[in-house]
Amino acid sequence: QPATARPAATKPTGAVYLDARQPVERRVDDLLRRMTLEEKIGQMTQAERAAVAEDPALVAEWKLGSVLSGGGSVPTPNTPEAWVQMVNEFQEQALSTRLGIPMIYGIDAVHGHGNVYGATVFPHNIGLGATRNPKLLEKIGKATADEVLATGIPWNFAPCICVARDERWGRTYESFSEDPALVASLETVIDGMQGRRLGDGVLATVKHYAGDGDTRYDQAVADANVGKPWWEQRYPIDQGVTVTSRGRFNSVDLAPYVVALTRHDVASVMPSFSSVDWTEDGVGNPTKMHANRDLITGTLKGRLGFDGFVISDWEGIHQIVDPADPANTALTAYKVRLGVNSGIDMFMEPNTAKQFEDLLLAEVTAGRVSKARIDDAVRRVLRVKFQLGLFEKPYASADRVGDVGSAKHRAIARQAVAESQVLLKNTDGVLPLRGNAKVYVAGRNADDIGNQAGGWTISWQGDSGDNIPGTTILDGIREVAPRATVTYSADASAPTAGSDIGVVVVGETPYAEGYGDVGGPECGWCTVPQQEEKSLRLQPGDRAVVDKVCSAIDKCVVLVVSGRPQVLTDQLGQIDALVASWLPGSEGAGVADVLFGKRPFTGRLSMTWPRDEAQVPINVGDADYRPLYPYGWGLRTDAPRSTLDKARDAAQKAVLAGRARSDWAKLIAGADHALATGDEARAYQLLRRVPR
Ligand code: BGC
Repeated sequence: QPATARPAATKPTGAVYLDARQPVERRVDDLLRRMTLEEKIGQMTQAERAAVAEDPALVAEWKLGSVLSGGGSVPTPNTPEAWVQMVNEFQEQALSTRLGIPMIYGIDAVHGHGNVYGATVFPHNIGLGATRNPKLLEKIGKATADEVLATGIPWNFAPCICVARDERWGRTYESFSEDPALVASLETVIDGMQGRRLGDGVLATVKHYAGDGDTRYDQAVADANVGKPWWEQRYPIDQGVTVTSRGRFNSVDLAPYVVALTRHDVASVMPSFSSVDWTEDGVGNPTKMHANRDLITGTLKGRLGFDGFVISDWEGIHQIVDPADPANTALTAYKVRLGVNSGIDMFMEPNTAKQFEDLLLAEVTAGRVSKARIDDAVRRVLRVKFQLGLFEKPYASADRVGDVGSAKHRAIARQAVAESQVLLKNTDGVLPLRGNAKVYVAGRNADDIGNQAGGWTISWQGDSGDNIPGTTILDGIREVAPRATVTYSADASAPTAGSDIGVVVVGETPYAEGYGDVGGPECGWCTVPQQEEKSLRLQPGDRAVVDKVCSAIDKCVVLVVSGRPQVLTDQLGQIDALVASWLPGSEGAGVADVLFGKRPFTGRLSMTWPRDEAQVPINVGDADYRPLYPYGWGLRTDAPRSTLDKARDAAQKAVLAGRARSDWAKLIAGADHALATGDEARAYQLLRRVPR
């Protein structure tokens, strides 16, 4: 509790809402009854840390219900203690208001608490999808919650339960899988985050409701962008339009939400920046999710019975087009009205919180937004605040800062890294490497922890270089194989005589939202210079390093550190072993563990690996399915344990030996999909159809 904490002067004593023994709904009723309209609107408003950091008293003045840290908005110094102190300062302001309603602080801890220097940074979701390990996901959720709570924060804008259907989407790495069944099976991460009941851990948020990963790539938008400065560009796929039918939307995009609500009791949902267009039902008309009353109030709160609250995305309602403001430059009453009436309960209004409040107040006063809608929204927000125990324990203590980046959490992350590695090719069993191998390590991602961690790491888009403590893949190799002779050259400028194995680590550089990697030296999102650089092909520099090393050294292993599959088919012939390493995070040693056989390769593709760019989008279940590696593919370096694993091994070997036609890949993918839905018998049946 901060030294300066003072109890609210006029806070009512003996009130029902302050009595922890009373049932939550009674406490909500009592508090709602006491609140003015302005106070209610305050509970629906969330401002950005930076907007109130200079003057924390604004939290009280504007009666804010919530504050967030957007990507990279961190206190200085960026220590766990500084976070606790900052959150408590805002809380002190909230508690000083008439009714002393605590604010709730929210943050994106999307792969561990990557905002804090020294935190454990887990693999991004695409890697976790490859582990197919729900128990591990639960542990990761718990470890993440512990680190977030240790910094005084009760709310995490995670997990993203998007189903990424097109790798050109720059947020593909935030998706567990292209297969909704696999995504749903890994939502155990929510249990880990929230604990057995709300209040044990942090409040989780599932996002972005719904269809964010299923938007249609718009080539015309991409073409129109060429040569424009980034601030004038529109995204051809991120924040785009999901063109679909009701039936398909339900089975692909909505399915993971049904599971999150019914099996994991998630208590907050964030709508997507994207739009939905029912053209395949013959209806058309793209509607922004932030204005989609049908899907938010009708489906989510109505049909699915969601009783938590809906938090808008960052200025999400600003994107609703107001006919009176076609240039879409301002936050207007129209946008506020549509957002609230669509069913959004709290509004992420980072820098326009007060303006939002004023506009909403005027709309309610004019009768264009009903008081009942306001009460419903506030009830939902307060319910969760009571359930989290914020009224009883509003302040964080710095007692648990030792949880941040603890050895225990790093061990979980290292295990996750190892289990996420997917061995795509392994000619003559070149992997695992011998402990005394003479290894020549090359490539820009071999010794770059920032590249390894990707976006949402310290800064929003992430950065190359030493931005967090941890082990790079090169550090890991040195640690795990002390008897190996290791030579390293990022650009392979000095190939050595006498190395018996080349390990080339290439792939992407960090990005978070927008297009995805553009290989630029600055912010990946801001540079977006060339069409070429937005492709899924390996960057020219990376290709050159692969060529150099693979032609100079007898055996070569290529590791791809990236947020999505990369197209490298034309170089495959010279590569002996190929590994999808995804974005492993702070524990690069987990990669070294599998390279040197300390742990086996067991990961399997949660996304289809395309043969060429023209195939994208390509997904399990497609009619014409001829990928380079199918969904579910992944060679093991241990003996297969179950009958099912044996059947998969045999099937994969048959495909590799060229004995099986490429459409057998479809059976392997189908089998893995069956497995994700829990149908082992069907999986086995499909695998047995591949000739051996
Ligand atoms: C992202 C969300 C995120 C929010 C707050 C937005 O730009 O789309 O995923 O939770 O920012 O940082």
